[in-house]
Amino acid sequence: MPTITISFDSNNRLNVLKDEANCYDYFVIYDSESKKNFLSTLIWEGKKYDFYINYEGENVQKGEYVTWEKLRAGKKSQALTTLMDILEPHLINISYLKFNERDYIYRFRNKKERNTQIYSDNAVDIYQSKLCTAIKLIRRTKEKISNNPITLNFGAVEYILPSHFGFCLGVQNAIERAYETIANYPKKTIYMLSELIHNPFVNNDLNKRGLKYLQTDQGQWLNMDGEHIMENSDPSALWNQINADDIVIIPAFGATHEDKLRLIKKGIALKDFDATCMLVEKVWKAIKEHSEKGFTTLIHGKYYHEETKATFSNACNYGPALILADLDEAKLLGKVILANGKEKRQLFEKYFSKRHSNGFNPDTDLEKIAVVNQTTLLRNLTIEIINYLRDLIIQRFGEANKEDYFWENEKGDTLCYATQVNQDALRKSLDENLDHALVIGGKNSSNTYQLYQICQKRFGDQAHYIQSEANITSMDSITHYIYSKSGSANEETRSFIELTSKKPVRILITGGASCPDGIIQQAISKINGFFPNEELRSMENVLEDIKTFD
Ligand code: SF4
Repeated sequence: MPTITISFDSNNRLNVLKDEANCYDYFVIYDSESKKNFLSTLIWEGKKYDFYINYEGENVQKGEYVTWEKLRAGKKSQALTTLMDILEPHLINISYLKFNERDYIYRFRNKKERNTQIYSDNAVDIYQSKLCTAIKLIRRTKEKISNNPITLNFGAVEYILPSHFGFCLGVQNAIERAYETIANYPKKTIYMLSELIHNPFVNNDLNKRGLKYLQTDQGQWLNMDGEHIMENSDPSALWNQINADDIVIIPAFGATHEDKLRLIKKGIALKDFDATCMLVEKVWKAIKEHSEKGFTTLIHGKYYHEETKATFSNACNYGPALILADLDEAKLLGKVILANGKEKRQLFEKYFSKRHSNGFNPDTDLEKIAVVNQTTLLRNLTIEIINYLRDLIIQRFGEANKEDYFWENEKGDTLCYATQVNQDALRKSLDENLDHALVIGGKNSSNTYQLYQICQKRFGDQAHYIQSEANITSMDSITHYIYSKSGSANEETRSFIELTSKKPVRILITGGASCPDGIIQQAISKINGFFPNEELRSMENVLEDIKTFD
């Protein structure tokens, strides 16, 4: 197959020629010896070619690098227009061509590579907690008790903390990348695509250090003052102000292809500032694998959540895809799968009209199915959906043919281990005799909500979902969040510790995967502050206790 090599720089700008009349023309190398970075087989000037990409510095001296957006708007030859038209559907892949199947955009760093000081030393109140550090050290060094909840005995009040809580590696990685970028590029304008993680204290701290947010977690465009833009054509939208000199950080949830494409066209370098968690990317790799075998992707997730939107957008790149919110929707899909002819189409349109990839054909695209999950859901719910759909497929095609029609990985689900570990550790704490449970995390944090649900089942109204110590308004009053689809959670004022209640008061505390340790310690300090000093043991004594746990 003849080959064509085209050149891009690390900012996704295309190498083109320019004549004296400032008209751009294409620049390609035919049948280059170097065949690196295969893009696709495409038809150009009526003939099939294998297209390869040269990155800046790889033997290309001619021409200049120009952003896609500028080329689209500028004066150019008809041939360049045609070349751009055939390349455009593949643009999304250009930044990531150097990665092979086993590579991840942003691998978890090992202990030696970690740079936790970059954030913990920068915002001590948010990230540092002597208590949490001591607990985590015990967990790592004392195997016998490493999975047991720990009781912090402050005298009048006791706190029970599960063995695992708070920050996951994906979140730590993303935070490191954001603080490192601020430190390494003091002269650049740095944007976040949207919230780095679902924690307002982390996001606000980054904001204070100059980082700007292009859009909300719901994709609404923002201006310099963080206000919503009504029309995306509004020049004050930050999206309309970014240029190839700027940096845009992709958050831990990943990003949709639409957002990435918009960045690519503006000449933004993607991969060095992409903090997509490798466990999210692992789901994308699973999707690629089963899609290539002809399975349709069913994503169990919240359709309004950034990660689900990014995963859906990724899945659409490989084949038909559909989002399922819960078991009820899985059962509705079951009805569609079992129906025939006209009824099948009618049911599909009725229940799933806005949840599927373009061109989804219920007659053919629901034969072979695969379920993946948003990584931060409750395991039981996900397993129920997988079991239900697997049984349905067996009922239709027989046990012997199950693997031809139902794909699943060895583990069954694609939840991330951090979500799972925090959930399991919390369950082990529920047998304790407790007065209240506090689940701390961003009010739009999915994994925190799952932890809250576990507590709510056991403790009812004594389980509270809070963002920080600010929600604990007094000894007997607490503001609890009611998680909502839009992320704009409603609040409810509830009674908290009764002054007449027995002592010690026993409170379970856990934090979601995006909850920094400092926020947990601030909640403990606030509650302690409601008790007379003489009824409390000192922090030093409690820290000494932790060292002696066996
Ligand atoms: S919760 Fe899991 S998937 Fe999400 S950032 Fe953390 S490790 Fe990654």
